[in-house]
Amino acid sequence: MDLAVGSLRAARTRKDLCLAPGERLLAGGTWLFSEPQPDVTGLVDLTTLGWEPVERVGDGLRVAATCTVEQLAAHVPDPAWTAWPLVGACADALLMSFKVQGQATVGGNVALALPAGAMTSLLVALDAVAVVWTPDGGERREPVVDLVVGPGRTTLAPGEVLRAFDVPAHALRARVAVRQQSLTAVGRSASLVVARRDADGAVTLTVTAATPRPVQARLASATTSVPTSVPTSVQVDAVLAGLEWYDDPHGAPDWRRAVTTLLAHEVVTEVGA
Ligand SMILES: Cc1cc2nc3c(=O)[nH]c(=O)nc-3n(C[C@H](O)[C@H](O)[C@H](O)COP(=O)(O)OP(=O)(O)OC[C@H]3O[C@@H](n4cnc5c(N)ncnc54)[C@H](O)[C@@H]3O)c2cc1C
Repeated sequence: MDLAVGSLRAARTRKDLCLAPGERLLAGGTWLFSEPQPDVTGLVDLTTLGWEPVERVGDGLRVAATCTVEQLAAHVPDPAWTAWPLVGACADALLMSFKVQGQATVGGNVALALPAGAMTSLLVALDAVAVVWTPDGGERREPVVDLVVGPGRTTLAPGEVLRAFDVPAHALRARVAVRQQSLTAVGRSASLVVARRDADGAVTLTVTAATPRPVQARLASATTSVPTSVPTSVQVDAVLAGLEWYDDPHGAPDWRRAVTTLLAHEVVTEVGA
C-alpha cells in the first residue's frame, strides 16, 4: 500500500541513520508497506548503504541486516557447513511468495520480532550474535536469542540499528534437524523446532513460533562438559514443561505444545543425541 509520508531519505553514511521524530528505518518494506503506519512521517532507506549481503569473517559468516532472504538462501556455502540446509528450510518457512523473499531482509525479520520470524529461528539456532549500531556512534553485540523478547518486541533502543549477524563456525559445521508445522497447509508457522549437534557432541534445542519469544536450551550428555545420566528425552520434556505457549489465530497454545513436543523429540533423536 502507499504510505503518506513526507520524506524518503536514502542513507549513504552512518550519520544518515540519525532519525528525526516520525522517521522510521526502511529495509525491504514488505511489512512497512503492508499496513497503515499513522505515526510514520518519513522513511530512511537502509538498503542504499551498500552493505555486503554475506561475508566470510574468519571461519564464520557475517550476514548483513540488509541481506534479503533470497540472497541468503542463494549463497553458496563452504562445503564444511553441514548446517546450511537450515537456511533453505527457514526461508521456506516464511509465509511469503518469492517476490516478497526477494525484498524482505534478514534484519527486518528480526527487528519485527514476530514469533513466526523464521530468520530469527535460523539465527538463534545457529548461535548468531547481532551487531547493533548505537546512536552515539558505538556498537554493541547481543545474541539474537536475547534480542527478541516478545511478539513485536526487541531490546533495540530508540535510534539503534541492526547492522549484521555473526554466525560462528561451530554452529555452521554442526549436524542439524528441523521441523515446522502450520495449522493450515500453507499457513504461518505455528511451531518451528531445530536441534543442533556440535562436533563435541553437545546438543542444542531451539523452539520458535510456538512460543512468544525464541527459546534455546543446551542439553547435557555424557560426552559434553556437563555429564549427566538423565535421558535426553527426559531433558527435552523438562525444557518444554517450563514454556509459555503462544496464542493467536495460527494455533491454540495446547495444540502448539502438543505439536512442539512431538517435533522436539523427533529432531533431537534425528541428530543422534
Ligand atoms: C505476504 C507476506 C507474508 C509474510 N510472512 C511472514 C512470516 O511468515 N513471518 C514473518 O516473520 N514475517 C512475515 N511477513 C512480514 C515481513 O515481510 C517479514 O518479517 C520481513 O522479513 C520484514 O523484512 P523487511 O526488510 O521487509 O522489513 P521492513 O518492512 O522494511 O521493516 C520492518 C520493521 O523493521 C524495522 N527495521 C528494518 N530493518 C532494520 C534494521 N536493520 N535495524 C532496525 N530496525 C529495522 C523497520 O523500521 C520496521 O519497523 C510477511 C509479509 C508479507 C507481505
